[in-house]
Amino acid sequence: MLTYKRILLKMSGEVFKGSKVSGIDFEVLLGLAKRVKKVKALGVEIGIVIGGGNIWRYRDNASKGGPSLDRVVSDNLGMMATNMNALAFVDALKAEGVDAVALTAYPCEKAMKTYVPAKAKKYLKKGTVVVFAGGTGDPYFTTDTAAAMRAVETNCDVVMKATKVDYVYDKDPVKYKDAKKYTHLTYAEVIDQKLGVMDMTCATTCKKGKLPMLVFNLNKVGLIEKAVKGEKVGTLITL
Ligand code: UDP
Repeated sequence: MLTYKRILLKMSGEVFKGSKVSGIDFEVLLGLAKRVKKVKALGVEIGIVIGGGNIWRYRDNASKGGPSLDRVVSDNLGMMATNMNALAFVDALKAEGVDAVALTAYPCEKAMKTYVPAKAKKYLKKGTVVVFAGGTGDPYFTTDTAAAMRAVETNCDVVMKATKVDYVYDKDPVKYKDAKKYTHLTYAEVIDQKLGVMDMTCATTCKKGKLPMLVFNLNKVGLIEKAVKGEKVGTLITL
């Protein structure tokens, strides 16, 4: 019996660059695809949102005084970056024998289908891994918010947000030895304490959608399997 039957896995684009300065390391993608395959083998329906931070992110390129791209143009680049990552990851999944499809909210019809919720739900139901690309399809948002929106629209049981640390902390645990770890939080606490684990639009979307989020360490192999089976892992954020 699975605690979470349908999950939305959110990974930052950063993960895809491996040890490269930027771009996509296909070896890393194949490794992640193998891990997704193991989770799928448990009978879990899997949606995935990947960020674009390995290629382009608005905040990394915003002006520090000099000339810079228009915000909307910059965000468009970011959304295109998520399309690139999704295409590459679906290729890696297929190379590992996993049935997968990319659906994008930022249409790119020569390479992938456009996201339509009903279509996505059909794929999920038949066990196809759905990689949701293009973020929300609109500027001024993040892929965390896209993950919350896609999860709500396709009736996922949880958003699993992959990070580099084991839990949500009140401050950066790498910089501060006395950082306090949380194993459980409410969205109200995340919002009131402005905890940096997600942006506020994402937090309010999850809250409105009554959608739990599990924040876990992607560097530790096997945690997704544990979590879907109901074992305590990372920080659980609920209403
Ligand atoms: N982006 C956007 N709308 C969205 C999602 C993303 O405009 O709905 C743009 C935005 O510029 C963002 C970039 O795409 O900086 C990459 O997304 P994000 O920063 O969420 O990627 P991650 O940090 O997860 O790799």
